[in-house]
Amino acid sequence: MYRMPVLLLVCTVFVAAIEARAAAADAAPAASPAPEASPLSALPYTPGLDPHAMDPSADACVDFYQYSCGGWIKANPIPADQASWSVYGKLQTDNQRFLWGILASLADPSRQRSASERLIGDYFAACMDETAVQKRGAAPLRGWLALVERMHSKRDLPAVLSALQLASGSGEMFFDFSADQDFADATQVIAFAGAGGLGLPDRDYYTRDDAKSVALRQQYRAHVAHMFELLGDTPAQSQRNADTVLRIELALAQASLTLVERRDPQNLYHKLDARGLQALTPGFDWNAYLHHLGVGALDSFNVTEPKFFQALEQLWRTESLADLKTYLRWHVAHQAAPYLSAPFVNANFEFYSHTLRGVPELPPRWKRCVRLVDRQLGEALGREFVQRAFSAELKQKTLHMTQQIEQAMQDDLEQLTWMSSDTRQQALEKLHGIANKIGYPDKWRDYSTVRVRRDDFFGNVISASLFESHRLLAKIGKPVERDEWQITPPTVDAYYDPQMNDINFPAGVLQPPLYDPAMDDAPNYGNTGGTIGHELTHAFDDEGRQFDAHGNLRDWWTEADAAEFNHRAQCVVDQYAEYTVVDELKINSKLTEGEDIADLGGLVLAWMAWKAQTAGAAPQPRDGFTPEQRFFIGYAQWACENTRPDQLRVQTLTDPHSPGKYRVNGVMVNMPQFARAFSCRVDQPMAKQTPCRVW
Ligand SMILES: [Zn+2]
Repeated sequence: MYRMPVLLLVCTVFVAAIEARAAAADAAPAASPAPEASPLSALPYTPGLDPHAMDPSADACVDFYQYSCGGWIKANPIPADQASWSVYGKLQTDNQRFLWGILASLADPSRQRSASERLIGDYFAACMDETAVQKRGAAPLRGWLALVERMHSKRDLPAVLSALQLASGSGEMFFDFSADQDFADATQVIAFAGAGGLGLPDRDYYTRDDAKSVALRQQYRAHVAHMFELLGDTPAQSQRNADTVLRIELALAQASLTLVERRDPQNLYHKLDARGLQALTPGFDWNAYLHHLGVGALDSFNVTEPKFFQALEQLWRTESLADLKTYLRWHVAHQAAPYLSAPFVNANFEFYSHTLRGVPELPPRWKRCVRLVDRQLGEALGREFVQRAFSAELKQKTLHMTQQIEQAMQDDLEQLTWMSSDTRQQALEKLHGIANKIGYPDKWRDYSTVRVRRDDFFGNVISASLFESHRLLAKIGKPVERDEWQITPPTVDAYYDPQMNDINFPAGVLQPPLYDPAMDDAPNYGNTGGTIGHELTHAFDDEGRQFDAHGNLRDWWTEADAAEFNHRAQCVVDQYAEYTVVDELKINSKLTEGEDIADLGGLVLAWMAWKAQTAGAAPQPRDGFTPEQRFFIGYAQWACENTRPDQLRVQTLTDPHSPGKYRVNGVMVNMPQFARAFSCRVDQPMAKQTPCRVW
């Protein structure tokens, strides 16, 4: 439904599981009822620094996360429809309730509506009409399943696969095909063929042999079988089908790179012409496939994982046509399940949210519908959000803060002792090349070709999905469009894109309690300043540093400077590798390396910018804290969270971010400014004899 560029560094939180963050498992209270189900007509105010969210009984020098967030953790049990609960998740839910109010009013056909308002209003109305959805049952799937059934030979695969991929807009059927910037020439968009085809969150779920993973695969197998029964297969046939699906997906998983391997862009760049691609998979007619996708003949591809396509060729050759059809039927049902009647929705929820992440209750329909409008028609909805919740003044203020933090990065680069002047010059050029995008896109997306009917929810989902697939594929062979955004304006998140060399802060993340215009500078610089610094630092983390000022994958480092960088980055990797997340699972710090470096660098830059901003001002204590203390508490309080243990396991395997506790404490131990602000002794847990420092 929504496809991110291969290398996008989506930050602070993990978009796919936006309500999915982590905290100490034993601190997570049991389920509480879902938040009050009513739309909001205005966003509620929560202060950017809240003394009540703290735990005064904790020692700031022993566990600063508990000290800053203990009160919040206690007062905010995880709602029954969430895998976790956090300051970010809570704000995202507030934004959703606000959007609900907007959509409910735009859904009223008797009022005067613009074309764009009518589009999202009618889409929402169709989605909310549960009775109609219920009545249609599995009927909307029939045409898609028939397409699979009608395959007479494997030669039909390119035509059928392209139709299914376009309609689902996902890379979950055998492989992923999309448009992205050429790693070597960021001004050009080319076709990308990548690994995909899995029903579990990552390839490691198929290959790990610990008891939990083995049990989870059994539960997944049962879920797949259940879905076949919902399609009308007999129980015995459904069991056999599930075995087939698991066998095929295991083969795809084994041929896929790990998430850590995927963090190195060099592992993902293999440029091939049409002949080279055809030679990789001789049995698959790429010309036919591209023709049916509607992109015509192409001669430039990045095959991100060539070994995966070799395995795919082998699989297509050895598996029977009947078994390939079985695999496709599962993925058709799986992709469509959230938009069908209750048996499909519930089965999908039961495995993916309850079993996998420990969520007790299905989110209410309004929430699922708001999220869907945001995902499918996000800029039309985002435009409404921006009009009501984001001012030009706020945009100006955050732009100013961003420029100050960029100035701090320049000062930092100029002062670095370990970098040679050649590399420094290139680093400065890259810094000066970064584009700042704040709030919302300058040009709104035109959805006028999406067909929306109030009585056809499933048809609307397909229409919006096709629109998005064709919109992305149409970019192939054209110069890159620099004003586009990869996340929608109401999203509570931010990102750095190494190929665009831009940082992006949507309106949704520039709201209290994250950015609070009513607060003093200290917590705002700690919180939002820290986030801006975090995104900026991504341009220079272990992955981002491999791209130059123009977004090209090009090594601009001298060998000695690269060695100095790696030495400093390793300090962070070693530090985070010691942190336990849940049970026996520790942080996979090669996966979280870039985020951990960005957290540390980000707060160092925010500190420098804040000190420059307030130079000469007399310190004004507030709520009993010095400005320095408020800076750090403000930082910590973005990260307060509670997470279910099952969700913690998913995150440890798949999320490049460390849990909130370590995103706070792991940074504090590396900042001597923190120890000074709270008078911590060097033998206390929140201080370190030899702190890590990359940037
Ligand atoms: Zn990040």
